[in-house]
Amino acid sequence: MTDSLGFDTLAIHAGTAPDPATGARQVPIYQTTAYVFRDADHAAKLFNLQEVGYIYSRLTNPTVSALANRVCALEGGAGAICCSSGHAAQIMALFPLMGPGLNIVASSRLYGGTITQFSQTIKRFGWSAKFVDTDDLLAVEHAIDANTRAIFCETIANPGGYISDLDALARIADQAGIPLIVDNTTATPYLCKPIEHGATLVVHSATKYLTGNGTVTGGVVVDSGKFDWSASDKFPSLSQPEPAYHGLAFHPALGSMAFTFHSIAVGLRDLGMTMNPQGAHYTLMGIETLSLRMQRHVENAKIVADWLEQDPRVEFVTYAGLKSSPYIKRAEKIVPKGAGALFTFAVKGGYEACVKLVDSLKLFSHVANLGDTRSLIIHPASTTHRQLEEDAQIRAGAAPNVVRVSIGIEDVKDIIADLDQALTLATA
Ligand SMILES: *Cc1c(COP(=O)(O)O)cnc(C)c1O
Repeated sequence: MTDSLGFDTLAIHAGTAPDPATGARQVPIYQTTAYVFRDADHAAKLFNLQEVGYIYSRLTNPTVSALANRVCALEGGAGAICCSSGHAAQIMALFPLMGPGLNIVASSRLYGGTITQFSQTIKRFGWSAKFVDTDDLLAVEHAIDANTRAIFCETIANPGGYISDLDALARIADQAGIPLIVDNTTATPYLCKPIEHGATLVVHSATKYLTGNGTVTGGVVVDSGKFDWSASDKFPSLSQPEPAYHGLAFHPALGSMAFTFHSIAVGLRDLGMTMNPQGAHYTLMGIETLSLRMQRHVENAKIVADWLEQDPRVEFVTYAGLKSSPYIKRAEKIVPKGAGALFTFAVKGGYEACVKLVDSLKLFSHVANLGDTRSLIIHPASTTHRQLEEDAQIRAGAAPNVVRVSIGIEDVKDIIADLDQALTLATA
């Protein structure tokens, strides 16, 4: 039925029905750890994955499943799992694909925390990432070797507002027989559905626009269900008997749901990066208004970016929705409804002026977050990207003279007035 429904209808209804026990219209918060088995036979069937149901909330929970199903419907996937954070979702997306000695090819333009996760922490698992400029398609092709198991990029790359050419990257991934994984946090499925552009896996930090009001830490992985995990010997956890789950061969047994079931039965079971039902409830509430918020976010962002670009106190603005942006053509293809609400601008006066700007704003909040109803600002070079060397900061679009804004849904005249008074103080 959901196939024929529009995006705004799915955002409100997908994944949920009135509670069968009570008729409650809103999704109840099932604050329970475990679920009573009907009998021993029922329990055995659940553990064998012969019947779908609830066992223990580290694996699945009705409130969390409602959210997974809703995001899955919005992204046009076959299955989804929720995780405790966006960073957890990234590990969960990689987990069934990776093993010691294997690598991913990742865009050099990623959320700062992801660059750290991929360049440092995943090495402890024996995994590694090769960072390349994903605008250089030849470099992407050359970086892929026999041990590469995925290409990873962001739809609208944080912090610089770069747009990834998802279709081109998906073609390269296809040719190499590996999945394209897209972090769609900053676009949300309202602005872009990466699966329609050839992505296999979509990851989200639900912390950001999906929830939309800065109340939750959460993540989601959506699987397109279209990748043939058995086409090569690259993905034995999915195509071969899985020793971590009594020898079940997930892809032969479960087809398009292989990745999702592996992620629940092995990933969540053993890594435990589970979303809690209360968090899932807040994100479900947030998604009900996703379209309306995103419309206002992109409308305000465009007006503010235009205003900043005209301002003599500003050196440049990187918003992909600007006519001057080298990404404007690609933005029209990948994010036709708007280039998001996250961008950077450079302040004349460099590092010092940026710090002063951040300290002088009154309406904007100085926080390490994005995708809130409120307008937010951060100076990446002194915060999120401070662990990176200066040349890596510049490559990531976070040079010392650059601030990142996440434009909220307040009255746009108030957002501009706040930037105006703070720029005056910062560049005096
Ligand atoms: C915030 C963010 C993450 C990490 O998500 P958390 O929920 O903070 O773990 C990953 N990718 C992008 C693009 C983000 O903005």
